[in-house]
Amino acid sequence: MSQTDPRRRIPRTDQLLADPRLTAATEGLARADILAAVHRAQDLARRGAIAPEDVLERALGELPDRVPPLRPVLNATGVVVHTNLGRAPLSRKAIEAIVRASGYTDLEYDVQTGRRGPRGAAVLQGLRDHVPAGTDALVVNNGAAALLLAVTALAAGGREVVVSRGELVEIGDGFRLPELMSSTGARLREVGTTNRTTRDDYRGAIGPQTGAIVKIHPSNFRVEGFTGGVGVRQLATLGPPVVVDIGSGLLAPDAALPEEPDASTALQDGASVVTASGDKLLGGPQAGLVLGRPDVVQRLRRHPLARALRADKLALAGLEATLRGGTAPVTDYRTVDVDVLRARADLLAEQVGGRVRRHDGVVGGGGAPGVLLPGWAVAVPEELALPLRTGDPAVVGRVEAGELLLDLRCVPAESDGAVAEAVRRAVRSADHDPPGD
Ligand SMILES: *Cc1c(COP(=O)(O)O)cnc(C)c1O
Repeated sequence: MSQTDPRRRIPRTDQLLADPRLTAATEGLARADILAAVHRAQDLARRGAIAPEDVLERALGELPDRVPPLRPVLNATGVVVHTNLGRAPLSRKAIEAIVRASGYTDLEYDVQTGRRGPRGAAVLQGLRDHVPAGTDALVVNNGAAALLLAVTALAAGGREVVVSRGELVEIGDGFRLPELMSSTGARLREVGTTNRTTRDDYRGAIGPQTGAIVKIHPSNFRVEGFTGGVGVRQLATLGPPVVVDIGSGLLAPDAALPEEPDASTALQDGASVVTASGDKLLGGPQAGLVLGRPDVVQRLRRHPLARALRADKLALAGLEATLRGGTAPVTDYRTVDVDVLRARADLLAEQVGGRVRRHDGVVGGGGAPGVLLPGWAVAVPEELALPLRTGDPAVVGRVEAGELLLDLRCVPAESDGAVAEAVRRAVRSADHDPPGD
């Protein structure tokens, strides 16, 4: 360390612990928690994420009673459904519904009769209202649970699931759908090839051992060129129940996402069961939707695994409010006016001294991989990425070609000022950045 190295100015642990502001703020807290907060702040300064002068302030902010269990993040990546950032941000109505449901509720209670009632009746009705008449609904923990339950109920115990080789996909972080299906004890009967599967491929594989045909939307990539698959309508003529995993949770077609499958169309085409996530394009809390023929949905509901996979009251409340509450934030962000985005980017650039450039957003979360959402971003020096990520509020942008791009698409407009303020603070800490490492 050179004489001028700013790390020399990082206050020592004993100095920090003796500071009256810290002692006042830490009365009643465990020493281990206080030390951990001090060390985290010193470490951030060592890495250049904050200025040495800000270590005490940051240590105060790191104390356990100040830090929320999960840190809020301003998503400046332009990725609307960002799985690492918690997927769909909830609407005001959904948040209020969750807060209201957090005490005692009529979750499984009929206030008319004073007896036990069906669990989450209102949200199930909400789902039925959004899909073709005669469809039944069930809500489980997430999309993977919905598919697991469907395959277990229809094909576990050595029966076969017929699936196209073009749909044996990994959807992220090593999570492979064929492994999920095999884990139920069902046997996978793969048909066709990576790029082409025909109706005859399916027909040749179907027999008395078949439990279900599963059709999976390969949501996070596209196969182009000499390709071919079999639609739900044709699969439905083959006999066994057809399970369609649409993934992203569109309940009805969306003209802006022409290649994205939706539950209503799949059900009209004859799917027995559709499975989907609640926190992707639907814009609700983490949940798994099961929609389908009443007899098949009832089989799933009655299966012992259903109890282990069920959704909690907070998710049910948030999902119902999302269904009933008008446009979800993910839809607002996906369809934000490009000129408005430009004006917001111009203002941010003016405030922090960045350069405005074109930047396409994406749907994310494995949805609509071919769709680009034209927009704008503010380019600032890449060195700001770390202090912005570790700041409060945390701001996560996208590093590309040596620049940090801040795309305001998924930032609530009322938080634009907070982004500007965070950038100014990050510039201040970067000015103190230790040289040469
Ligand atoms: C996202 C996705 C899943 C998994 O859903 P989770 O809600 O993350 O469990 C399953 N299948 C497809 C096609 C998906 O896109």
